[in-house]
Amino acid sequence: MSQLIDSFDRHVRYLRLSVTDRCNLRCTYCMAEDMVFLPKAKVLSLEELALIAKAFVELGVEKIRLTGGEPLVRQGIIELARQIHQIDGLRELVMTTNGVLLDKFSSPLVDAGVSRINVSIDSLRADRFKRLTRFGDLEDVLRGIEAARQAAFKKIKINAVILRGINDDEVIDLTRFAVQNELDISFIEEMPLGEISSHSRSGTQMNSEQIHEMLEREFSIIESSYHDPAAGPSRYQQIAGTETKIGFISPMSNNFCASCNRVRLTVEGRLLLCLGNEHSLDLREIVRAHPGDLDKLKQAITASMVRKPERHHFDPDDITITRYMSATGG
Ligand code: SAM
Ligand code: SF4
Repeated sequence: MSQLIDSFDRHVRYLRLSVTDRCNLRCTYCMAEDMVFLPKAKVLSLEELALIAKAFVELGVEKIRLTGGEPLVRQGIIELARQIHQIDGLRELVMTTNGVLLDKFSSPLVDAGVSRINVSIDSLRADRFKRLTRFGDLEDVLRGIEAARQAAFKKIKINAVILRGINDDEVIDLTRFAVQNELDISFIEEMPLGEISSHSRSGTQMNSEQIHEMLEREFSIIESSYHDPAAGPSRYQQIAGTETKIGFISPMSNNFCASCNRVRLTVEGRLLLCLGNEHSLDLREIVRAHPGDLDKLKQAITASMVRKPERHHFDPDDITITRYMSATGG
């Protein structure tokens, strides 16, 4: 039972834990071209991250997602995953990754207790993939996905951000790729987090309904009975005759805040109570002022719940949130 209940009677059971703001890619919708990364002194240590994770689990959080930035570039990530997995009461440890390093890390991740992974891939065309990620090599990700399939993850899901005029012609190909490789797939609407110069966010907006229509023209789509109690916003459907579930994450077109069950911790220790607002609490200050003190952390986290706002208000023409997704813990 979660002790983390906000003013709107939402129970927080899910923590997205950012383990780095750095990345080995520079996706154009996620980061600006010239990013300034955090100095080491501002970044939570592995011990601090593990302690904060423990505080959340003791308060009733059941699921933790390791994310970033790119979580697999953080030194010591496997050891951190192992430590978090061993916390009593945690039901599920999962990760979101760009897949570039999965060739090397899939088996160690499974051994450390990561049960499911999401792999972000927005294009299956090498030249376009390079453009979208500014220098990424599609082959690395494909090799990584294959390695993940060979490892014993319970589930692998593709995440694709679809941008009008940039990769919207790949919705069907990406879905076929998921079916052929027995993966799930979620389509994500681009959110206006941080100023970017590569494209106009309002010009590239694609909503989930439009993607759904494209899919319906090509596949027979049925409602999935699958329900992930800890998942929150994603609603699932299934391609008939396959195991592939399709999810739509629609922060722009379909406000799902009423069922929000999550909070995020940035790697500088900022507890973000909502992705689309700046309401937050500095946990780094607390963990450094009272090293090893779980009770202090738990008290502060519990008290912060009243600050969780009712909902986000995103406008692609008006970038009010200057923090990039890579620094947020997507
Ligand atoms: N580097 C890892 C990855 O790419 O999977 C984990 C961090 S990344 C910030 C997490 C997810 O956020 C990815 O699926 C990415 O596509 C998505 N994302 C990044 N910027 C976004 C934006 N502005 N709007 C919507 N999704 C975004
Ligand atoms: Fe890196 Fe992930 Fe952001 Fe791409 S979406 S730049 S892989 S953090």
